[in-house]
Amino acid sequence: MALHVYVFLLVVCLLSLASPDDCPACRLASTPSSGGEPAPARPWREVKSRRGAPKRVNTEGFACPNQKCLYFGITDDQIHPLVGDGKHGPAERIQTFRCQACRTTFSARRHTPLYRLKTPSHQIAMVLSALAEGLDASAAERVFGYRQATITTWLIRAGEHAQTLHEHCFRNLQLPHLQLDELRTRLRNAKQVLWLWLAIDPLTKILPVLQLGPRTQNAAHRVIHSLLQFLAPGCLPVFTSDGLNVYFYALTAHFGHWRGVGVMGPKPFDGR
Ligand SMILES: [Zn+2]
Repeated sequence: MALHVYVFLLVVCLLSLASPDDCPACRLASTPSSGGEPAPARPWREVKSRRGAPKRVNTEGFACPNQKCLYFGITDDQIHPLVGDGKHGPAERIQTFRCQACRTTFSARRHTPLYRLKTPSHQIAMVLSALAEGLDASAAERVFGYRQATITTWLIRAGEHAQTLHEHCFRNLQLPHLQLDELRTRLRNAKQVLWLWLAIDPLTKILPVLQLGPRTQNAAHRVIHSLLQFLAPGCLPVFTSDGLNVYFYALTAHFGHWRGVGVMGPKPFDGR
């Protein structure tokens, strides 16, 4: 056996490989859920009577928010039973929808950063655009005349929604190369040092994962675990890093299959 292979195997044995059981998120995901998959909902037009006026309001992309409803979360307007149910709001006319199956009514702004906000949406968009350009929240208070606490609430809501959008849009990525890094940072007024963990594709500059946290093994597991959710099945990028050893355990816990080699090999280890 070539010396470098021997040294490699020795290093691998010394590092004692990680498995998915080492990742808190993997352990949580493997907990069996109660109950099976619900039966698929029949298209509402097959269920309801054929009488009545045709739908006039476009409901595509919206879904019944009632978790007990058979049509909960179904955004396809060929299946779901949503219809327009008037408009509301003093400043802007906001569409209301009604689910014909469970009779729940809800605003088109439900689950958006604008839900239940009274300020006109174009004003909020202007303030958030200024913040995205680098304007400080306290400066935005002076420029736009809204309280800093209000502006911060808008910012948090927009950030949380951006996270949801990111998770919705970044699916099945085929990324041949990813660079892993963690940057030392400090939040304003906070004495505690935080680390900004990131994975970046050097070709497209896509950042599939960006997380703030301590520089610990569990944080590395979280980063690699969420990265795995964005990659296409079977996609195994070439990873490069600054050499921080926690990446080794996080990567071997989530990717690939480790096997013993020849006479030297211990029992085959299945790394997934
Ligand atoms: Zn419903």
